[in-house]
Amino acid sequence: MYVRFLLYFTFLISAFIFTDPLMKPTSLSKDLYNVKILDGNYNENISHPDNFLDFEYGTRVASPVQIENAVLSYAKQSNRIKVVEYGKTHEGRSLYAVFISSPSNIDNLDEFKQALSDLSDARKTNDNKARSIIASLPAVAWMAYSIHGNETSGADAALGIIYHLLASEDQEVVNMLENMVVIVDPMMNPDGRDRFVKSLEQYRGTAPNYDDQALLHTGDWPYGRTNHYYFDLNRDWFYLTQPETQGRVPLINEWRPQILVDGHEMGAQDTFMTGPPREPINTNIDKDLIKWGNVFADDQAKAFDDNNWRFYTGEWHEDLYPGYSFYIQFRGSLGILYEQSRMSEDGVRRPEGTIQSYKESVHHQFVSTIANLKTLQKHSKAMYQDFWEGKKYNVSKNSEYANQTFVILPTNNLGRLNTLAEKLEAQDIEIYLNTSPIQTKSALKQTGDSVENFTIPVGSMIIPNLQPEAPLIAAILEFDAEIIESVLEEERRQRLKNSSSIMYDTTAFNLTMMYGLEAVTVQENIQKNLKKWKPIEVNLDVQEDALMWAVNGIDDRSVAFAARLMELGVEVRIIDKDALLSEQSLPRGSVVVIDMDNPDYEGLSSVVSAIALELNLPVSSISSGFGAEELPDWGGEHFKLLERPQIALMGHQDFSSYDVGVSWWSLDHHLGIRHSMVNGSSLSYGDLRRYNTIIMPSGYLNLSNSEMNSLKEWVRQGGTLIAHNASSRSLSFENGIGSVRQVSSTFGDSEEYNMDLQREFGALNVEIDMEKTNDNKIDFDVAYPWEGSKNKFNKSQLEKRDEWQSLFMPSGSFVAGRIDDEHWLTYGSISTLPVLYANYPVLMTGNGSDAAVRIGELIESDDETYRSINWSDMPPKTDLNVRMSGLVWPEASQRIANSAYLTRERIGRGQVILFAGEPNFRGAALGTNRLWLNAVVYGSGLGTSARIVP
Ligand SMILES: [Zn+2]
Repeated sequence: MYVRFLLYFTFLISAFIFTDPLMKPTSLSKDLYNVKILDGNYNENISHPDNFLDFEYGTRVASPVQIENAVLSYAKQSNRIKVVEYGKTHEGRSLYAVFISSPSNIDNLDEFKQALSDLSDARKTNDNKARSIIASLPAVAWMAYSIHGNETSGADAALGIIYHLLASEDQEVVNMLENMVVIVDPMMNPDGRDRFVKSLEQYRGTAPNYDDQALLHTGDWPYGRTNHYYFDLNRDWFYLTQPETQGRVPLINEWRPQILVDGHEMGAQDTFMTGPPREPINTNIDKDLIKWGNVFADDQAKAFDDNNWRFYTGEWHEDLYPGYSFYIQFRGSLGILYEQSRMSEDGVRRPEGTIQSYKESVHHQFVSTIANLKTLQKHSKAMYQDFWEGKKYNVSKNSEYANQTFVILPTNNLGRLNTLAEKLEAQDIEIYLNTSPIQTKSALKQTGDSVENFTIPVGSMIIPNLQPEAPLIAAILEFDAEIIESVLEEERRQRLKNSSSIMYDTTAFNLTMMYGLEAVTVQENIQKNLKKWKPIEVNLDVQEDALMWAVNGIDDRSVAFAARLMELGVEVRIIDKDALLSEQSLPRGSVVVIDMDNPDYEGLSSVVSAIALELNLPVSSISSGFGAEELPDWGGEHFKLLERPQIALMGHQDFSSYDVGVSWWSLDHHLGIRHSMVNGSSLSYGDLRRYNTIIMPSGYLNLSNSEMNSLKEWVRQGGTLIAHNASSRSLSFENGIGSVRQVSSTFGDSEEYNMDLQREFGALNVEIDMEKTNDNKIDFDVAYPWEGSKNKFNKSQLEKRDEWQSLFMPSGSFVAGRIDDEHWLTYGSISTLPVLYANYPVLMTGNGSDAAVRIGELIESDDETYRSINWSDMPPKTDLNVRMSGLVWPEASQRIANSAYLTRERIGRGQVILFAGEPNFRGAALGTNRLWLNAVVYGSGLGTSARIVP
């Protein structure tokens, strides 16, 4: 009895201590799919992926650390591998390309690379040499995965593929590696993947979850798709703004792989999609690649059929935009897209009741990869032959590109010009400078007008397109990407019938418009009087005893110069009118540091030169503050004192992560000054007095009355509020602060808006009749601008038009921005600035608000009449260029003509600055980014009342 009691007691205690606090699930997702992914005769000296994971391979998402550990271990275990670290992410994670081939091929990689380079330049290589290169070269495949961090199955497949190729002793694999170099880029976006893996950890419960709406599957803001600064890396392949792409692209370009596989995921309820793409397809892509795309798709489809897996091709995947991984197609390589339905580790239940497991999705990517490699093995030689023919064509006189030269006109914006040169050179594009003026028959301007007998000024950047990478050059520099008629018809049909679009990305993207650099295209092959382009040497002239030091305001880096000095406590001024001091020409917006403003600052001149050196920015020393006649003198009103911006960038909640991320990146990348990214909800509970500048990236704000009131009060007390796109909509008169309206609510007051516009037009083009002006008698023939038009529309006509025109808004096209060249927001801008436009709020200024940039370049016309476009009138002899590049339907041009792209309004002691669009788009829209940098850095000094600390 005593013994039994003791036993019973012991049992109770142990049950109390060891019971798991959570219930065991009734099923496990890893049991859903029992097919083996890694099935072969494997070398036992190579570690199975399970050794690097804390779960069975393929059943869950491997973390970036686990994948990295595997890659680095494999580098030591096998002689079939060479691992190259090609970059580091913003968060410090390494990016790897894993070269896999036979041991002897691995020893000869440099030789292959050289042969590929020779095969790519028909100016140095002849047919005989090409034939022998092709005969001896192994096939080269670049297999890349999970560029979107939450599209995880690709990288998990990559881990298995690396192992399979390294460890397999099957003759098929050994033979393949004798004849092929497989380069695996297992995870292209480890920062995004890590964010998603962390959220999986956080949202994982005990039982598997098959509901694709659960947070386990979706993750949350800012999501794992993008990198550290929330950039979509699969839009960055020629903008090259992020370290992942900046490291990857030069290595791919060195290797010129025959195929580039890009493994993604799409909606959870989808199946699997691969190439070839549907229209629109960029017309600069070699048709041979479409042919090869079909060959690969055919074999891949057979592999899926054999496994009883569903798939499709060519449904929504188009190929107009050259910033996808398919930039490679313009270089003659085949791009192949995988889109696997997306799920987290557990799997997703489908309408028919079945569950697709994560492991199966990894298997799809694995099988696709092996299928593609086999197809390449079969057709490598024929593909090399086509590649060679393409490269020969590009440098032949018969090339459609032979008589085409791109010219970027000289500018003092050296920072921007150097950035452009870097991007072009990363793509092996040869760029030149002309040493004397070049006479041409005609030149096409960015606005679409041709100029006869155009002289290219000395110091232009010249890119003749008779060179090996001609199709890529055309794709990224041609002012307009051709969209064929049948595509336009289908697009219009979709717009009318379903309000939808077949355009998957922007329809305009050329680099010179993106960068806001003036350029022309010449239909001639320019080769004479050119020298290789080199960055212009920077002159740092910082004399200690100068009166002041100045930097040219055209250069974007002048904004960073001002911002960084202010952060160091230096008083900085800006000259708001073109000046000439000590023989230095200083355009409006030039930044000066005056010794007298900073009497107590120790070592001022060395701080000035240190900052200029960091920015690689020319500085001049000024010894006299005298500007002749009406030119600014240093004691006059044109030397404006700046105020250090104290910046809050709103984020989270309902803001667009892309627009938040790119704005954050621009603050860090272009300025490098302190700022706070704050949660949007701090409008209600935060202390806004810490900031004098608040940035609201695009977002569907739903501000409460008290939030709106605290924002208004903050503005009135001297704050600078800057908003983009959807946030501008939320802050316009109808919903928010100030008097800037959206066009749809202005048709009752169209006359007044038109009158304001006529004053602007009049001021742009003042013409007076001296005789009539000095006549003492009444002139009965005075022309009033608003009385001339014969086709005026009334309110209900305007409303109807607006509703119809709204159907046709652009989805990312360039339209002409007409800048107010006296406004401080436009410092450093060219006068006709291409601005990217989409379905943005159409902004209208009135009642004292400024339009620093309006839509439409004002040009001359022979028409003698007043003509109305919706609410606005065009005076006699004037016309308006709206579209610059991409698809802008005529209805859309009418709707946005003369509306404001950038507005600024004084409210109390502060101001509100609204951008209709997203000025920092993809980190590449440097033209509009400059307007934004002006707003952020100069706003608190130039647009608000100076705060004097007593
Ligand atoms: Zn993707």
